[in-house]
Amino acid sequence: MSKGALPRLTELAHWLVARVLRAGELAVDATVGNGQDTELLARLAGPAGRVVGFDVQEEAIEETRCRLDGIGGLAEVELHRESHAAMAERVPAGVAVVMFNLGYLPGGHHAVITETRETLAALDAAWRLLRAGGLITVVCYPGHAGGGEEARAVEEWAVGLGADAQVVRYGILGTKSPAPVLIAVER
Ligand code: SAH
Repeated sequence: MSKGALPRLTELAHWLVARVLRAGELAVDATVGNGQDTELLARLAGPAGRVVGFDVQEEAIEETRCRLDGIGGLAEVELHRESHAAMAERVPAGVAVVMFNLGYLPGGHHAVITETRETLAALDAAWRLLRAGGLITVVCYPGHAGGGEEARAVEEWAVGLGADAQVVRYGILGTKSPAPVLIAVER
């Protein structure tokens, strides 16, 4: 949790997701990482729900399995050590929420980062799978090499969705290096 009144962007994403995802629904964590988003989705979807997660690093998948182990009342969680670009093949339609937290795993290999081309492929799939009223959240990190280009690409993608989509961008002002942004799309 952030110390002051203003939430971190990841917390804000959690708050938005909690407004949409109902018990028994299907949700996707496109970048499992340390499993914080996976855990939230699994709590909200509950025992009758299902969560599908993707991460290219075994380390992230393992850590998240340990994290969820022993927590009661969670949804069925299926984790794939695979790029989120495979989402269309692994996930059926009718998804309530898809969460992305881009960049690299904190404390992990900084060489393994999300790639703009794969991110856009996964976003296209996510949009097609989303139910009416569903939500996609994307936390982008323009501070690292390639991250600025990726954040711009996500924004252009979101704006290009047209009339079916409501698009917002939340960000922090007045930082020295480019600050993270949260882009959210509601169907
Ligand atoms: N930057 C965030 C954490 C992001 S974690 C923060 O500071 O909190 C991003 C995760 O995405 C990493 O665990 C990484 O392994 C994963 N990842 C990278 N490329 C991916 C891909 N193509 N598909 C799925 N996950 C990917």
